[in-house]
Amino acid sequence: MDTIITRFPPSPTGFLHVGGARTALFNWLYARHKKGRFILRIEDTDVERSTQASVDAILESLEWLGIDWDEGPYFQSRRLEIYKEHIQKLLDSGNAYYCTCSHEKLEDMRKIAMSTGNKPKYDGTCRDKGLQKSDSAVVRIKAPLTGTTIVHDVIKGDIVFQNTELDDFVICRSDGTPTYNLAVVIDDITMCINTIIRGDDHVNNTPKQIMLYNALGVPLPVFGHVPMVLGSDKTRLSKRHGAMSVTEYREMGYLPDAFINYIARIGWSYGDQEFFTREELVEKFSLENIGRSAGVFDVDKLLALNADHIKITPPKIITKHLAPFLNKLGFEVEEGPFIEGVIKTLNARSKTLKEMAESAVFYFKDTVSYDQDAASKFLISDSLKTLNMLVTLLESLKIFDEKSLEDIFLKAMEQTGLKLGKIAQPVRVALTGKTASPGIFEILNVLGKEKSLDRLRRAVSFIDEKGS
Ligand code: GLU
Repeated sequence: MDTIITRFPPSPTGFLHVGGARTALFNWLYARHKKGRFILRIEDTDVERSTQASVDAILESLEWLGIDWDEGPYFQSRRLEIYKEHIQKLLDSGNAYYCTCSHEKLEDMRKIAMSTGNKPKYDGTCRDKGLQKSDSAVVRIKAPLTGTTIVHDVIKGDIVFQNTELDDFVICRSDGTPTYNLAVVIDDITMCINTIIRGDDHVNNTPKQIMLYNALGVPLPVFGHVPMVLGSDKTRLSKRHGAMSVTEYREMGYLPDAFINYIARIGWSYGDQEFFTREELVEKFSLENIGRSAGVFDVDKLLALNADHIKITPPKIITKHLAPFLNKLGFEVEEGPFIEGVIKTLNARSKTLKEMAESAVFYFKDTVSYDQDAASKFLISDSLKTLNMLVTLLESLKIFDEKSLEDIFLKAMEQTGLKLGKIAQPVRVALTGKTASPGIFEILNVLGKEKSLDRLRRAVSFIDEKGS
């Protein structure tokens, strides 16, 4: 079988949004699943609306998502010569012609069609005139006048278009620039794309594109049009429903693997499995399992999946994604056992990386700030004896690990006659400043002997100074 070659061709007129990311993902997954190739192409022929900032944002988003490309990015704006060559081929073979109908004439045609309840279309005035190239001439494709054009859609099934509904659309403007459908088809042909998965907002372009393939005598690729992503109220996903851009999700603290897991599941399924690692998605993805009905974007499901991914992702990898959040809070992160230890204490209790970074702050602060309520409840003279005892016991510890820490706390319980809960709370406040945190043995273990002792001693001085 031929190598599967897919593509993602965003128009750089804004950020990469959820729907676009899903289209990119489906094409990428399919290419990776089939051990094929995935090509990135920037469709920047709309000079007015295309910006470099959008190109950068799209590339950055794809990189964050881990959607890598084997070729490109190609830019349509740099391929004008290739389009010209093919337009000439179409003219030479009699499949296209020059048209000099004025704007006013076209406008009249449109008005007449509308007033008689017909779809506006070009009436073919110049079709058989054999006009030559001129400054004001556009090039039109000679569309078939009868019959049907059928899109054999792998997702939606056959979609039949009556050729009488289609017209001799413009493929080249009078300034020599190609129109959208021409550029897309020439790119797809010259880049050997054989599988096109895109949003179903493009379905009406497909018969026009098929006409171009036919006119050029090139076999058709496989087409699949994916239903739109909807918001919770079942209308097309938009800003009203919340964050739209991929980078916003990165900033909110989602892991890329959780994000791709979730967006893959909007519109694609594999039994009732919800959780997929990246590798599983690649292994299990198929076009047959893309659904025909539109999927709803549910941020709660995304959040739950994020928590699950945070739990199973190795701390070394989490470090890379967590570091920017800690940097934002003013802390430097060095890769290694300390940050990985921190992550291990928080990964089962954090739904996002942002939340994890905020919960990790106490590990990084030189001086822990005590919550007022926590301090007034637990950093009190009643706790002094226990805290001092723990300081002495910890000072004498040779091996500082969770097991020996547990032994020390057992000893402290014996000596004070207090339950672990009673001993643990002042220690927790001393170490973290708060009354809720990961387990204190884990925290002590991550902080290490010196930092732990410093914090306990500081709590003792705090109580002494307060004198209560
Ligand atoms: N450039 C188009 C877009 O951003 C995609 C066209 C296509 O997939 O054929 O929607």
